[in-house]
Amino acid sequence: MDSIYEEVVGFYRGWHKLEMSGIYSDGHEIVDQDWSPLSRCDSFSSRREVLGALNGLRRNLDEHHDADQMVRDNLRASETYLRATLGERFAIRDYVASLYLYDPAPIPERTLRATAAEVRELCSRFGLRYSPEDRAAYFARFRVESAQEVAELARAGQDYWLERLYRHIEPPQELKIEVQIVRKDEPWSFFLSTEAGIATFSINAHPRHIFTRGQCQYITSHEVAGHAVQNSCWARAVIRDELPAALHIHATHHPTAALKEGIAQALPYFLCERSELDPEMMLAKKLRELRDMTLANAQLMLEGGGSVTAAWDYCASRLSFVEPFEIERDIANRALKPAERAYQHCYAPSFLAFLRVAERLGQGEVGDFLRSHYHRIPSVSEFWRRA
Ligand SMILES: [Zn+2]
Repeated sequence: MDSIYEEVVGFYRGWHKLEMSGIYSDGHEIVDQDWSPLSRCDSFSSRREVLGALNGLRRNLDEHHDADQMVRDNLRASETYLRATLGERFAIRDYVASLYLYDPAPIPERTLRATAAEVRELCSRFGLRYSPEDRAAYFARFRVESAQEVAELARAGQDYWLERLYRHIEPPQELKIEVQIVRKDEPWSFFLSTEAGIATFSINAHPRHIFTRGQCQYITSHEVAGHAVQNSCWARAVIRDELPAALHIHATHHPTAALKEGIAQALPYFLCERSELDPEMMLAKKLRELRDMTLANAQLMLEGGGSVTAAWDYCASRLSFVEPFEIERDIANRALKPAERAYQHCYAPSFLAFLRVAERLGQGEVGDFLRSHYHRIPSVSEFWRRA
């Protein structure tokens, strides 16, 4: 069994190296987290060859009844993802269920309406109406022009969120965070990556992204108190719990990725009472939640054969403070790019599932729940079964 797990480590590193080799214009990072002390790295010359190796690994694993379920789920997700990058078209339900283990149903209109009502109430506190006519006034009041200023505002919020989080979980030994500014035509405006124990918080200053003041305040709850701390804690758990070597490597198309996004996005609701949350920050946060939900539904409309014009109109009528070019780019990414098709979709359903947990937990239960997601790698299928 151990030798197959070691093969899995070598397989993922080899696939990652191929994707990054420059021969694919749509090459995507495969390894997101690598905590393995093993040195194995395989060599591949094509994705076709990667698929052959992956099929072989899955067959070998099938012969072992004691193989870890999470390893099986990861490899199945990888096979679906890889087939999609090779041109195979999967129905959205099958695709998302294979990668992230949930069923992508539309977000109910009542949830969107309730979120929009919160947005309108928060807007009124700043003398704004939530309508396209006030979009320019919204940006005039909240837009942050320079990436340097984004970095400064984000850094200011970091200690607040960490202090709140560490009331519940045992902090990782050391958390080193470096900030870098990049310009990439990607749908993410912020990104957290970890290598050799150092986390890098990237701000994507590509012109397709617009930054706002409240967003810079809440973003460290997501990227630092969420991703950076959870990654460090999982790295510790991998060693302490002696998890199979195949689980020392994580990819963003693995089932755990959706849970990481959901808990990171819902974290303020676990760590604070609503009344403690700053209105400027909450407005940006609620706008983002509404945007993720609306785009998830628009994506499903397109997946069901709807026209792109209908998907844009659906978004435009709900997202008064999002520029039309942002909606256009986001929808096209979800429809055309295998990496974004499921990853971008997962934000809204996963966030809502964690929000429901946060709302039903009593004050004394928050710590137990957070520890069950930070101190160990949770079972993804069990989470969705209970959600
Ligand atoms: Zn994230």
